[in-house]
Amino acid sequence: MNTENETKTCVDCKNEFTIDSGDLNLYEKVGLKTPSKCFDCRMKQYAKEEYEKLKTQIISDMEKRGEYGEFFPYSFGTGPYNLTNGILYFPNTTKEEVLKNGGYWSEEDLSQTDGTPSSSLPDSIFDTPREISSQALICPETQYRFNISEAEYEFHKHKGFALPRLHFDKRILNKIKKITNIKTYPYKCFYCQKNINAYYPPEWGYQKIACEECYKQNIA
Ligand SMILES: [Zn+2]
Ligand SMILES: [Zn+2]
Repeated sequence: MNTENETKTCVDCKNEFTIDSGDLNLYEKVGLKTPSKCFDCRMKQYAKEEYEKLKTQIISDMEKRGEYGEFFPYSFGTGPYNLTNGILYFPNTTKEEVLKNGGYWSEEDLSQTDGTPSSSLPDSIFDTPREISSQALICPETQYRFNISEAEYEFHKHKGFALPRLHFDKRILNKIKKITNIKTYPYKCFYCQKNINAYYPPEWGYQKIACEECYKQNIA
């Protein structure tokens, strides 16, 4: 984290200019180099002909590099891909793919392995001691360590719910899975047998899926 402003000499007009520390942090965060030109030179207004010429040049350079028309590259990402919403919609994306495309990936620190496997938790909250909230638990699916806070323990006890076994990241992923389906599957309308597409994966076993008209007529 920078706390000091930076003074630079503009490569165009040779005047000195200052980039304040907050802006420096922003540039760093989004992976951009700090500007080499002063604000006035960066904001320079070109004559129409010069602008058209530059624009053509920029486009043809981008085409040579295979960039033109493409979506922003992974390297423009401001954080690790696996910590973005992207991973919710494309859960099968691998670290290798992301790194190959110039993106970032955050690795969970698994060097600390001491803790109680959550599979050994009692099935009833009433058999679970309050002291559990001072212990590290190990998620059976991710091997991540996690805690149950005292407030969580109280809440579960109040409701009579058993404690969760999975790490909270995994719980959120599982929960949100149902609303992040972006692939459709062929179905037949339960009422009129028309061919339709729906977002429910066949393994969910949904039987009564209606087309829009039948839904309006029979359900809504
Ligand atoms: Zn300048
Ligand atoms: Zn129908």
